[in-house]
Amino acid sequence: MRNRIMFPCASCEMQLRAPLHLAGRACSCPACGERVVVPFRPPAEEPPVLVMDDGYGRAQGRIR
Ligand SMILES: [Zn+2]
Repeated sequence: MRNRIMFPCASCEMQLRAPLHLAGRACSCPACGERVVVPFRPPAEEPPVLVMDDGYGRAQGRIR
């Protein structure tokens, strides 16, 4: 599983990587030193996932 969050720095737009446990925390960008908040979910890194099923997963509310 992924244990890193990738996100662009809000200030310098550098792609940053942070370990999952830093989600929601403010850190300083290693590139520009600005304070950035690590998002809870990687905005762009999550690949599109195609799930073929009969709707069972949806009925169970497994969609995140
Ligand atoms: Zn930065």
